[in-house]
Amino acid sequence: MRRFLKTSGVLGLLLLMIFLAACGQDVGGSDEKESSGGEEDKVTIGLSVSDLTLERWQHDRDIFVEKAEELGAEVIVQSANGEDEKQLSQIQNMLSQGIDALVIIANNSDALSPVVTQAKEEGIPVVAYDRLINNADIDAYVSFDNVRVGEMQAEYLTEVVPKGKYFLLGGAPTDNNAQMFRDGQMNILQPLIDSGEIEVVGDQWAEKWSAEAALSIVENALTANENDIDAIVASNDSTAGGAIQALAAQNLAGKVAVSGQDADAAAVQRIAEGTQSMTVYKPIKDIATKNAEVAVQLAKGEEVSADDTVNNGTKDVPFIKLDPIKVDKNNLVDTVIADGFHSFEEVYENVPEDERPEKP
Ligand code: BGC
Repeated sequence: MRRFLKTSGVLGLLLLMIFLAACGQDVGGSDEKESSGGEEDKVTIGLSVSDLTLERWQHDRDIFVEKAEELGAEVIVQSANGEDEKQLSQIQNMLSQGIDALVIIANNSDALSPVVTQAKEEGIPVVAYDRLINNADIDAYVSFDNVRVGEMQAEYLTEVVPKGKYFLLGGAPTDNNAQMFRDGQMNILQPLIDSGEIEVVGDQWAEKWSAEAALSIVENALTANENDIDAIVASNDSTAGGAIQALAAQNLAGKVAVSGQDADAAAVQRIAEGTQSMTVYKPIKDIATKNAEVAVQLAKGEEVSADDTVNNGTKDVPFIKLDPIKVDKNNLVDTVIADGFHSFEEVYENVPEDERPEKP
């Protein structure tokens, strides 16, 4: 443990916290604190999650904690449940508990500089997990190639719908990734828009990546376009789910191509049933494991190496970039099922047995 007291007013309380922490007890009240081992050089990592109510992040949390513990760390996990202010105060709380590294899945990529500054002043390294943190002195960014994710979504849709009317359904405007996905989508769409093959009939962003927001956006888009939409460029699976619900209400589910991302359980079922065209699978095991390794290395004062950098407005941040995988009904078995991310039974739950592929 690298760091403890800073000021004196609450010295007694802090000493008590140190004592309890040394005994391996949870000093954070409502925190979810996972522990392991009892080695002298054990480090403590704070993992601040944007929103554990979304399916994807529960997998990330589980694998991250497991890997970090395997590497001899303790992890304190907190979820901001989609609230910027909550994430800031939870991080301040973690900093007061004597963590050795801070890993943040940002709720708002532009709102975290104050706590990153505070962490760095206290000598605590900071890792941006999946979402970049802008204008802050972070030590590393571990994510997938997010521009490539957007390209994969648009590549797929333009293969199945080479000409027609497209609706662009972006993610949370506060998430830097949402813009990166859009950049990738436009890399593919723009030439086709310029040549007149594709017409963009609407472009909106779903607050907090919520399915409800996506549902109402797509309901309105269908009304405004008299149901004449050929493809919906949904940036992830939760928004794809909302879009498909709106399509289903007009008997259009399965007739309009819809992209997605994350290989959520509900999304892979929709792909198997034919109402969602594709998803982008980003093996959570890869990103969670890598983030845990980087966090433990930094917590121990070791160097981390990265092949790339990304500028966040403050610096060129070392960027550890992982590869996403395009998934549709033809490779569900070889990807998400083969990886054990979802079981064969779960994916094909709603598909009649004689229409299922052969079980591996
Ligand atoms: C992640 C996506 C996820 C979305 C909503 C993005 O930052 O990269 O995988 O679907 O947030 O949670």
